[in-house]
Amino acid sequence: MPDTKGAHEGPDSLDQAFPGHQLSLSSRAVHADDYMNSSQAVAPPMHVSTTFRYDRDPEKLKQWENIDPTAPYDSHIYSRDSAPNTTRFEALLTSVLGGASLTYTSGLAAFHALLVQLNPKRIAIGPGYHGCHGVVELMKRLTGLEVVDLDQLPGKSPEKLAATGLTKGDLFHVETPINPTGEARDLATFIKIAKTLGCYVSVDATFGPPPLQDPVGMGADVAMHSGTKYLGGHSDMLCGVLTIHPERAKEGWVEKFKKDRLLLGSVMGSLEGWLGVRSMRTLELRVLRQSESATKLVEWLASSLGDKASLVSKFVARVHHASLQTEAKKTWLSQQMPGGFGPVFSIVMEEEKQARYLPSKLSLFHHATSLGGVESLIEWRALTDSTTDKRLLRISIGVEAWEDLKEDLLKGFAALAGEKMELEIRPA
Ligand SMILES: *Cc1c(COP(=O)(O)O)cnc(C)c1O
Repeated sequence: MPDTKGAHEGPDSLDQAFPGHQLSLSSRAVHADDYMNSSQAVAPPMHVSTTFRYDRDPEKLKQWENIDPTAPYDSHIYSRDSAPNTTRFEALLTSVLGGASLTYTSGLAAFHALLVQLNPKRIAIGPGYHGCHGVVELMKRLTGLEVVDLDQLPGKSPEKLAATGLTKGDLFHVETPINPTGEARDLATFIKIAKTLGCYVSVDATFGPPPLQDPVGMGADVAMHSGTKYLGGHSDMLCGVLTIHPERAKEGWVEKFKKDRLLLGSVMGSLEGWLGVRSMRTLELRVLRQSESATKLVEWLASSLGDKASLVSKFVARVHHASLQTEAKKTWLSQQMPGGFGPVFSIVMEEEKQARYLPSKLSLFHHATSLGGVESLIEWRALTDSTTDKRLLRISIGVEAWEDLKEDLLKGFAALAGEKMELEIRPA
């Protein structure tokens, strides 16, 4: 009987059906879970059961093993351990993210699980998503975890690196691309430094989902995603993912993380697992479109900044995005993000008030936090992140036509200009 304790442990019959042929990401995202299907339904059924009957044959009863003879690849015991919809979602993630993948209630729950399992004494982390820093603070309280500034490490001599105290078993947590700017960090350099010190590397790859980059393929021990963003893609599910490098999987990491998750209890609900499978089918279509549109809009905004007569240059002081990291693009960045740049970028307005007002002038962009969905979002970032510039607007590009989004932004700038004129002509 097959071992069915986790999706990643079962045979991937899709690969067996195409010996010697590497299926594309889009084909995997549509079919990697086919082998688990226990019915003739093309779309997966929704299961709500928290518990699963044991075998009626007393001789077959075994601790933590419960193989359903009618669904050998879809067998479960209790849904805090595994459940059909989330396991099927994990089979897709495993195939697409390049390593055994486990899901959690949210991105932060995944990051928490990572810190609980690795329990580093020190973490090298730089500016980025503020919630991860919140989890680090929480761990500081529990374990005395020390924080080292990640971005100060490149270029340091071996003596200076040693002086940071970073050593075997500590963790480099590299967020790239970075929230909220969408700019990228040089991952290969951080992996190299971490390896010389014996540290582990985790990558928060939320802003660069497949097919944009492959942190595990580059040698990261763990890739983390807030699946709430691109993997879910429709602003309707919370989800976190940890993907384990195949070498670490050989050392038993997947089982360790799964055992911890059973105790932390931070498993996704079945509805979210079901939505996750639905979402993965179109991951590549969505992300490539969003990435291309974002890059075109950034190019337009950045070139307009140089034109003093343009409406954009009246209000926008700076644009941030990986596609504008010109020097890096000539070297490490094109290798790191061969599939395109992330669909999130930021603009810094001339004045705080303009950042407060622009979102309300737009029709296609929702003024809301989060990112990664099919709907374009803009957020005056100061509303949820006290650490960012108060003039900054974070923009997440959805699947709408980029020309329409450009038009909407232009209309927004024109409305700001109109308002400004009104203020100017108003009698004192
Ligand atoms: C949203 C986000 C998270 C947190 O994910 P949740 O699913 O909201 O818990 C972590 N990192 C980055 C970069 C994010 O954008």
